[in-house]
Amino acid sequence: MKLQQEVEETHTRYAQDYVNHLLETVVHRNPYETEFHQAVKEVFYSLIPVLAKNPKYIEYAILDRLVEPDRLITFRVPWTDDNGKVRVNRGFRVQFSNAIGPYKGGLRFHPSVNASIIKFLGFEQIFKNSLTGQPIGGGKGGSDFDPKGKSELEIMRFCQSFMTELSKHIGQDTDVPAGDIGVGAREIGYMFGQYKKLIGAYEAGVLTGKGIGYGGSLGRKEATGYGAVYFVEQMLNEKDLSFNGSTVVVSGSGNVSIYAMEKAMQLGARVVACSDSSGYIYHKDGINLDTIKRLKEVENRRCRDYVLEHPDAVYTEGCSGIWTIPCDIALPCATQNEINHLSAELLVRNGVKAIGEGANMPSTLEAIDIFLQHNVLFAPAKAANAGGVSVSALEMAQNSARLSWTMDEVDAKLQIIMKNIYRESMKASEEYGVPGNLVIGANIAGFVKVADAMLAQGV
Ligand code: GLU
Repeated sequence: MKLQQEVEETHTRYAQDYVNHLLETVVHRNPYETEFHQAVKEVFYSLIPVLAKNPKYIEYAILDRLVEPDRLITFRVPWTDDNGKVRVNRGFRVQFSNAIGPYKGGLRFHPSVNASIIKFLGFEQIFKNSLTGQPIGGGKGGSDFDPKGKSELEIMRFCQSFMTELSKHIGQDTDVPAGDIGVGAREIGYMFGQYKKLIGAYEAGVLTGKGIGYGGSLGRKEATGYGAVYFVEQMLNEKDLSFNGSTVVVSGSGNVSIYAMEKAMQLGARVVACSDSSGYIYHKDGINLDTIKRLKEVENRRCRDYVLEHPDAVYTEGCSGIWTIPCDIALPCATQNEINHLSAELLVRNGVKAIGEGANMPSTLEAIDIFLQHNVLFAPAKAANAGGVSVSALEMAQNSARLSWTMDEVDAKLQIIMKNIYRESMKASEEYGVPGNLVIGANIAGFVKVADAMLAQGV
């Protein structure tokens, strides 16, 4: 017995040393890519117990291979603005892993986009996509183009130029992009139109998040937000809690946020706040979602305009202040690192019971530690926001079969997928001695499938 314990301790120490050494290498080989380092760190530390139990993952250098994308493509995106001036942006596509299916992941158009952001997103996507149980690998892309303040025609010209280069690297069986921040059905439409023109064929499954009339899936728009709430509801139910009657704060007011609010409200929650990159609204009696949808989805306006129609609501400039609002459940659905240790401490002090990450990596590593130390139920992004890409995979399936499912059919499948992700993550957390730690559980459950496929396919 004692001998076995000693052997296990030796394996754990060996796995820890391996991970620490590899992390140093990652930092050294990818200098300044802080977001990428952060994402890798979170995953690697979670995997120590799996590596200790399965030394073959170390022997066959699975992690060394996973941190090096198959390829990172960067390219020039020239376009002309409405004044005839030539502008140049930088485009990216990272194809991280196709061990279990074609590369799959969104495109982000935002001025903050750089190699570090794209690589952190692509790396996360490997494990998220594996968790969905669908046959999709990990990829991501985007540009530092800022859609804010651009005209419709400028956006169209940009998307066409972006796709002119991207088209050389994607395909329905190789790499399937979709939306992310700054890329919705409109941008996907312009890119799909350009792709079709360039390749001369109707390859519907090359992009997901398309309009419903030309190959898009019902329920894709709602999927990330709905999925996050389905996942959190599972987690709450296990502790005899629920959205019903709870007070909820949701950051952001884009696609993920709007449909997270909608589903939380349908389940009986009072959503009291949401935000955009300028500031946040607090509406004590509950946010009016029709107003938010109109402002954001139709009129392209800012959150501050909400109070013009609802004078009993309060608008405050600046984003992080949203986490000072007391709530039972917080759903960060805006962007990476929006909750730091200070915001996490405030949320805990104000009695938050659960966090559900709708955005990608919205909590810093320090913030996650604070939530876990204080036994706050924590649904990590990889698991909680996997509903979007899951329905993307359903869109690909519908495109291949040349048919379309009803909203009810898609929603039923989404609910099953989110339940499975919860169950698999929970099971992995129990199997590896950290019951209920979904950060570790989700990382392990996502990793094992990819690692085993890599072993099976050889070096
Ligand atoms: N951008 C989304 C994500 O972070 C969706 C990706 C997709 O549908 O391919 O998962």
